[in-house]
Amino acid sequence: MPTATVARNTPPAQSGWQRELADAIRDPAELCRVLGLHAAVAEKGLPATRSFPLLVPRVFAARMRPGDPRDPLLLQVLPQAAETEDVAGWSADPLREGDALAAPGLVKKYDGRALLLLTGGCAVNCRYCFRREFPYATSGATRRGVAEGLEAIAADDSLTEVILSGGDPLLTDDAFLGDVIERLDGIPHLQRIRIHTRLPVVLPSRVTPGLVDVLTSSRLARVVVLHANHPAELAASPAIILNQAVLLAGINDSAAVLAALSERLVEIGVVPYYLHLLDRVRGATHFDVPQGRAEELHRQLRDTLPGYAVPRLVREVPGEPSKVWIA
Ligand code: SF4
Repeated sequence: MPTATVARNTPPAQSGWQRELADAIRDPAELCRVLGLHAAVAEKGLPATRSFPLLVPRVFAARMRPGDPRDPLLLQVLPQAAETEDVAGWSADPLREGDALAAPGLVKKYDGRALLLLTGGCAVNCRYCFRREFPYATSGATRRGVAEGLEAIAADDSLTEVILSGGDPLLTDDAFLGDVIERLDGIPHLQRIRIHTRLPVVLPSRVTPGLVDVLTSSRLARVVVLHANHPAELAASPAIILNQAVLLAGINDSAAVLAALSERLVEIGVVPYYLHLLDRVRGATHFDVPQGRAEELHRQLRDTLPGYAVPRLVREVPGEPSKVWIA
């Protein structure tokens, strides 16, 4: 029938967030134009886009200060010349996650928990991302890999918690996410799912009633861990969630900015959970904050904020059974 033919040949309708993502900024010169910056601001970083392109949703760009090349949101996404410098001690896989692949798409670093990589895609490409060179396609962050990862989870009764990760797990559509959660629901030894995401910050339209339905349909306890690094990234939040930030030179390495981030998080019902020292991924050396400086900043936060608003200062060390608590 003609209608059936049309239906088969028509791509699935896109939701608002998927259209926004398709329309995201991918060209550094365009980002400069949108922000009223001279194109020269982006030129030196162009070689870095070959291996890790620029990607910024327009709604996130709209939170940047026009005309300010040092805007802390811009600096997180704008490719820089420093990214192409090789520096000893900074590598493509700083957390040695390649060694922690327990099955396709399944990273197991800590007892009782495993990360299921649902996709390699994100809505934004953060220049400091420790997975910026992660070989997602060959590591099972694919539909087929996820199916194998789910089988491995079902076979490992030492696991009680599965962390949906990526890329950004919320970049997958509701139907796929719903299938994964239904499969996890049916694995008796699991108690919790955790979702690590930056989408509510960089593409808030992803938080749809349909997504909330998918997440709340599970019998498993659910924990959402947000990723925001600067107070200017935050709008209103519909639920109590946790935040983990990365300490980044030039972005949030001041007690005033970190305190403002914590206060803004608390104001919108988000618990400031972790402040991470930067993972030493190749190309991100210019974001590094020495540990001594980080500890000093953390001391200042403790002097300024109520205890519940002070995130724990941590570093991830390959091979350690959990995150290393520094303060
Ligand atoms: S959203 Fe997270 S996984 Fe994606 S690029 Fe940024 S830091 Fe990396």
